[in-house]
Amino acid sequence: MSLSGATRLYAVLGSPVRHSLSPRLHNAAFAAHGIDAVYLALEVSPDRAARVPDALRTLGLAGANLTVPLKERVVAGLDEVVGVARVLGAVNTVVAHEGRLVGHNTDAAGFVAGVRQRREVTGCRAVVLGAGGAGLACGAGLAEAGAAEVVFLNRTLARAEAAATRCRAAWPATAFAAGALDDFADVVTRADLVVQATSGGAADAVAALPVDHVRAGALWVDLGYWAPAPLHADVLSARGVDVQDGKPMLVHQAALAFRHFTGISPDPAMLSRTIG
Ligand code: NAP
Repeated sequence: MSLSGATRLYAVLGSPVRHSLSPRLHNAAFAAHGIDAVYLALEVSPDRAARVPDALRTLGLAGANLTVPLKERVVAGLDEVVGVARVLGAVNTVVAHEGRLVGHNTDAAGFVAGVRQRREVTGCRAVVLGAGGAGLACGAGLAEAGAAEVVFLNRTLARAEAAATRCRAAWPATAFAAGALDDFADVVTRADLVVQATSGGAADAVAALPVDHVRAGALWVDLGYWAPAPLHADVLSARGVDVQDGKPMLVHQAALAFRHFTGISPDPAMLSRTIG
């Protein structure tokens, strides 16, 4: 596909963003579907976050993905925020539609789609480590998909409690609870699913978790996708715990974003091959 003056522009915005795999995923999907569009990674300084919606309008981008630290900070400047994004107060996908910017969140459903490659989610009991943007999105996605129980464990207890409170109001059929990372051994024994959603700085805290309390047959999902294998992968696998890294979530949130952008659902297997 050659670029021209008519080529539509999409981008992922955030900081840091140069490492992002989103350009590979979306450009592969544009090529596969013969769409005249290009997708770039644009570094945006956090102090410029409030200007992002106007920049999208001014430059006429057809759509954008947002990553850290923009997901919450651009919400106020959009024309409409729909679905789970409204509950979370966080947007990872913006679509320009008839001059209006509409915000979506595909992290929640993308996470669930990745998990469903391995196990059913409806009725499951989950523990989510971390209550930042990703942990909250995973908890919301699980509730939306009918999980019976979601426990947020976080270094900062107040943030776990805030996540549980926010989700409880939106999904009353799911039992939400909050705790500290120190509560891991007590609560993880009853979990069918454990989601490791802390960021890289938490590596020492995650490494210290007593994962021998995770029961055999459970699924452990680590949202990281840059390491050759998640922390604890060998020990967990040896105990009969299924282990998944963050690539399935990455692929499925991108596939859902692409559908918002174009109306087309790209093949997740093709996208997975793109990022290896
Ligand atoms: P975030 O909003 O910055 O949240 C970071 C989380 O990590 C918080 O729960 C924080 O706890 C915890 N944490 C940070 N340093 C810690 C430490 N030293 N000890 C204990 N806990 C610590 O980040 P995020 O957006 O949720 O992202 C979390 C991770 O998910 C990142 O690695 C990100 O790359 C990954 N992610 C992957 C995908 C995917 O598609 N696979 C999608 C989104 C995100 P406090 O609240 O106590 O600070």
